[in-house]
Amino acid sequence: MSSSSRQEASRIVAARNVRSAPRPTDTDGRALRIPEFFGRRTLNMDRLRERLPPEIFARFSATLERGDRLERPVADAIAHAAKAWAVENGATHFCHWFHPMTGSTAEKHDSFLWFDRDGRAIEKFTGAMLIQSEPDASSFPSGGMRSTFEARGYTAWDPTSPMFLMDGASGRTLCIPSAFIGYHGQALDEKAPLLRSMDALSRAAGKLLAALGQGHHGRVTATVGPEQEYFLVDRAWASLRPDLLIAGRSVLGARPPKGQSLEDHYFGSIPARVLSVMEEVELELHQLGVSAKTRHNEVAPGQFELAPIYAEANLAADHNQLVMQTLKTVAARHDFAVLLHEKPFAGVNGSGKHVNWSMSTASGENLLDPGHDPQQNLRFLAFLAATLVGVHRHAGILRASIASHGNDFRLGANEAPPAIISAFLGDFLSKMCDAIAEGSVTDLPAGQALLELGVARLPAIAKDNTDRNRTSPFAFTGNKFEFRAVGSSASISFPTTCVNTVVADGIDQLVAWIAEEGGPDAVLKAVRRAMIETAPVRFDGNGYSAEWVAEAERRGLPHARNTPAALRALHTAEAAALFDRHAVLTPDELAARYEVRVEQYNKKVEIEADVLRSLVDTHVLPSALADLGAAAANEAALRTVGARSEAAEHRRMVLTGLADSVQEARAALDRTLANLPGDESEKAVAQCREVVPAMAALRQACDALEDLMADERWPLPRYREMLFQL
Ligand code: ADP
Ligand code: MG
Repeated sequence: MSSSSRQEASRIVAARNVRSAPRPTDTDGRALRIPEFFGRRTLNMDRLRERLPPEIFARFSATLERGDRLERPVADAIAHAAKAWAVENGATHFCHWFHPMTGSTAEKHDSFLWFDRDGRAIEKFTGAMLIQSEPDASSFPSGGMRSTFEARGYTAWDPTSPMFLMDGASGRTLCIPSAFIGYHGQALDEKAPLLRSMDALSRAAGKLLAALGQGHHGRVTATVGPEQEYFLVDRAWASLRPDLLIAGRSVLGARPPKGQSLEDHYFGSIPARVLSVMEEVELELHQLGVSAKTRHNEVAPGQFELAPIYAEANLAADHNQLVMQTLKTVAARHDFAVLLHEKPFAGVNGSGKHVNWSMSTASGENLLDPGHDPQQNLRFLAFLAATLVGVHRHAGILRASIASHGNDFRLGANEAPPAIISAFLGDFLSKMCDAIAEGSVTDLPAGQALLELGVARLPAIAKDNTDRNRTSPFAFTGNKFEFRAVGSSASISFPTTCVNTVVADGIDQLVAWIAEEGGPDAVLKAVRRAMIETAPVRFDGNGYSAEWVAEAERRGLPHARNTPAALRALHTAEAAALFDRHAVLTPDELAARYEVRVEQYNKKVEIEADVLRSLVDTHVLPSALADLGAAAANEAALRTVGARSEAAEHRRMVLTGLADSVQEARAALDRTLANLPGDESEKAVAQCREVVPAMAALRQACDALEDLMADERWPLPRYREMLFQL
């Protein structure tokens, strides 16, 4: 790979054409409208209703509502309908599609092929095949839960998430969204705990609604709308950057010169090739029933966002995986690499996933909506207070839920929420919470107190008043919270599981307080206790400021600056009790999550260190030495004709110094790697304390070289090329 490949890439990128997305049409060639093709690759409830005997469909719906096990005859009938639908639509295979603890998805395909009694090939798919399958589980992380003699695990259909058809190059597969469970019922995946946390939240919310005299509302669901940020880089550039290909981020690269405007991009017009990617991504997603709604440029050049309309949490999690996967496949068709990493480019805005979160009753009433009548206002205050209690008491768990090596580069940096969990409520609501805590109004009867507090004016005010405080990791935005600290490449399942669980815990506390207080004003009194307790976690100021770090410490809020420190919050008796109490994770299952995350952290750092060393050895140093050789030859040539150039001498000396400092930093990195402890937890701490800074120092030396070396000899695509040449 030489610098001529860089020039070649530049020519390729300049010559790219926009590839338009194929619009679905009817038989007359008329372009279909979104509702005409939305969800057409999913076996949704409408389609099931059409295809199932009414009695079976009714039993299925009832099963879903109660969250019961699927009865065999119902499963058989659904399998029959699913196979018919899938085969009619060109599917040859089916697969259980699941979410191991890697953060991404896994699938094992089987064809529908079977033989009848006469040995003739037929297509077969039974209820048993639908409900359960047994993939080879040993290759997925189990966090020590599965010793090899019982390495079996099975996947079980999650009937609340519709089956869908995945397109291959020349065939289709019926995908069955599934949970992945160990032989003894342990959750080996991200979905099972999420579903359990939704149950926990529903149970708790049901109790609070009952305490509020509104116990008729049925199941409460967590609703989630994850906004997905990502970068697009032309494939011609990415293919010359082993770090982007292997680690998803550039482990070295000098920043673009100052003054190159980075701001114009936001909400500017979308580059034509990118728009085409977005259109095709949305087309695919809409067919898969994913409600892609919003698309726009993000802050950094080359950075964009896609947001869906919110859905039930587990569906939203499945859909977000489909979003990430679809982005990758479609981008590739348009000769782009998509970077989902939290910080692909140092010094450039990073990517997050804003997980918008709320709770909804069965009839679709948003429990975090301030509402229109006093009763609803009180309900709002109660759920808000309960949420704050959960977030305050378990801030460390929320912090742990978003911890990853990639997110370490983003959290606490100047464009991302800090690594301290606090809740932003906006001016009006904050004042109200403080007033409640003070107690001046809580002595009044509830109705009058609410009037005094101005709660009735909340809906209107909350909307405009919750201004965009981008510096808060957990911000109330009118009728939902926005968990902004989630990493862009992460599965939203675990962060959502944690929010559901800590809020369920907060709700339980509020319910207990209401019972303790008793009497007509019990709710407001309980809310008051919540507001007093949660004062430290409520913070509307600038989360990026150094003062906040000091202030947060005074307030006793946990501040875990990096992943190994943050993950420790999962490794406490308190955390084990919390998840156990709400039947979300057993202590073993939680310990497994801790282990898997620590291992993942270690692996990521190791991979990056490897890539960096190899880049230095095979790209940076050889090119630097070539450049140095040229500079020395140049200087000597000038001397032979009796000319002595200070510029030539200076250049040779500076290059020598920079190349040597790369060499030294390279050796220093090796030394940190040679001394790592064997224990994974200790290793994570050591990697964080020594390897990561050593990599940063090596990178700095390389970047200084990049800034000085002759452009024609620098082998790696530069930031300005990757970010600005789309
Ligand atoms: P904002 O401009 O505040 O980010 P949007 O209306 O664009 O708000 O919404 C951002 C995301 O929040 C979208 O995915 C949206 O569907 C989601 N959202 C809206 N209401 C809720 C809710 N009640 N629960 C969960 N997510 C929600
Ligand atoms: Mg938003």
